[in-house]
Amino acid sequence: MTDNRYDVIIIGTGAGGGTLAYHLAPSGKRILILERGDYVPREKANWDPQLVNVDAHYNAKESWLDKDGKDLHPHTNYYVGGNTKFYGAALFRLRKEDFGELRHHGGISPAWPISYDDLEPYYTQAENLYQVHGNRGEDPTEPPANSPYPWPAVSHEPRIQQLSDDFARSGLKPFHVPVGVMLDEKNPHKSRCIRCNTCDGFACLVGAKSDAQVVCVDEAIKYPNVTLLTNSLVKRLETDSSGREVRSVVVERNGSQERYSADVIVVSCGAINSAALLLRSANDKHPRGLANSSDIVGRHYMGHTNSVMMAISKCPNPTIFQKTLGVNDFYFGSKDFEYPMGHISFVGKLDAITLKAGAPAIAPNFTLELMAKHSLDFWLTSEDLPDPNNRVTIGRDGKIVLTYTPNNLEAHERLQTKLKQAMKQTNCSIHGHDCHQGLFGRNLYVGQRIPLAGVAHQNGTIRFGHDPKTSALDVDCKAHDVDNLYVVDGSFFPSSAAVNPALTIMANALRVGDHLMKRLGVSATKLEQPVLAQA
Ligand SMILES: Cc1cc2nc3c(=O)[nH]c(=O)nc-3n(C[C@H](O)[C@H](O)[C@H](O)COP(=O)(O)OP(=O)(O)OC[C@H]3O[C@@H](n4cnc5c(N)ncnc54)[C@H](O)[C@@H]3O)c2cc1C
Ligand code: SF4
Repeated sequence: MTDNRYDVIIIGTGAGGGTLAYHLAPSGKRILILERGDYVPREKANWDPQLVNVDAHYNAKESWLDKDGKDLHPHTNYYVGGNTKFYGAALFRLRKEDFGELRHHGGISPAWPISYDDLEPYYTQAENLYQVHGNRGEDPTEPPANSPYPWPAVSHEPRIQQLSDDFARSGLKPFHVPVGVMLDEKNPHKSRCIRCNTCDGFACLVGAKSDAQVVCVDEAIKYPNVTLLTNSLVKRLETDSSGREVRSVVVERNGSQERYSADVIVVSCGAINSAALLLRSANDKHPRGLANSSDIVGRHYMGHTNSVMMAISKCPNPTIFQKTLGVNDFYFGSKDFEYPMGHISFVGKLDAITLKAGAPAIAPNFTLELMAKHSLDFWLTSEDLPDPNNRVTIGRDGKIVLTYTPNNLEAHERLQTKLKQAMKQTNCSIHGHDCHQGLFGRNLYVGQRIPLAGVAHQNGTIRFGHDPKTSALDVDCKAHDVDNLYVVDGSFFPSSAAVNPALTIMANALRVGDHLMKRLGVSATKLEQPVLAQA
């Protein structure tokens, strides 16, 4: 065995790769984790809205192309922990019905090859691992769960509680959003999380967000059998002459090229980069791209239809941590629209600096500063449907090309209308129904002029399924065409549902992890202990 030979190589450290590394670490198997980025530096800039939201300081410094050949500067992050370093940590299970076929206004959302019940135990494990705070039984669309959340829900601040009460009075069933922050409201002096206003979209300066680095990678590398190489960009995967096995992982590190090999290779670069890696790894046995005899790789790109709607009230909104309230009453439709519409919740509280980067239409008599002080900042998500023509390809110069035409938009417009109606019914004790001044769409463009939602919820490009003609991965997320290649990031989704994707990616990584443990011949009794308290 040379130093470059491992039992398992995991490429990428985000929700999928980081979680899998944590799960496999006690196996005693030699595991190499390759991550193109470095650690997010711990610095005051982590919490600076100008640097983070306007200057896009931590965003990937590369450009892709859109379908018209125009430059895209993706709002994505290459760091240990992947996009979970910056996520809002809203950690939802998909609804039970999302695993079946659903008829939408814009077409069919296809069934998954596994059922909700197959994933349920792993959702529970993922919620425990990522310390999700939530209350079961409040969300009317919530799927059945075998255990309570490990932590009680993060409480609403007064303005959000008032809105929740208003919504409830008008017949809605608002609920507490499940979030992965290490907040201990009963023991504030011991709480790692300080409940600040720079969480969603920011890295946590005090390491209190349940992200894949803090929760998983930092723990995994305490095991002597686990090695993490940062700043290691995987350029290509090479197969043996049969094409059935990945033989080498070609890595660019410190300006030179290195090669690594393993019995099992797991790709987890995020749905866009994983597809790009397989497409770039084409060879004579895989002329359309690695594991792509189906011509599925890169297709069916989904990213949700998202919008930010600012509801301006005469009453101020001094909320600090705003992402606590959700409304799923319209998730599967309503009396006047029989198709699914989606999910309503919140983004982190917007400030005037951030608003300048994506200026909304200004409410009459309001400045941006005043709007920021008085806004409730809603996040609306609707399902986009898998379209084979929405896809990742590689341009002639090797750049990623992202071709995307939005679909199922009627659902999103209906959802916006539902929110407008619900807001009109709010009734404050000072201004009555006049308190609400209207809803204003915030343009989802940051400094680099890219729709945040365009890639934040990326999924679907290497879908799993039973049929090798219509899917690239089997039900264990192993490539149909290659015997030692797996994919565990958001690529495997056959449909995008309308809740945030990360918990499902984490739960699936744990599921695939169990399969890999069996494949590697590891029994539960043989698990190792981490090396603790190293000087
Ligand atoms: C601002 C923001 C807010 C969000 N909020 C939420 C939320 O509240 N709830 C939620 O569920 N989701 C949220 N998301 C989405 C969530 O972060 C992603 O769904 C999740 O991180 C995807 O996990 P992944 O494993 O597919 O990929 P990622 O987390 O993106 O990880 C991919 C990793 O692979 C690495 N990599 C890529 N290419 C290579 C290569 N060639 N070689 C080596 N390494 C490579 C990357 O550097 C990265 O570390 C948010 C995202 C953003 C950007
Ligand atoms: S709210 Fe808590 S977890 Fe989020 S950034 Fe602030 S301290 Fe960190």
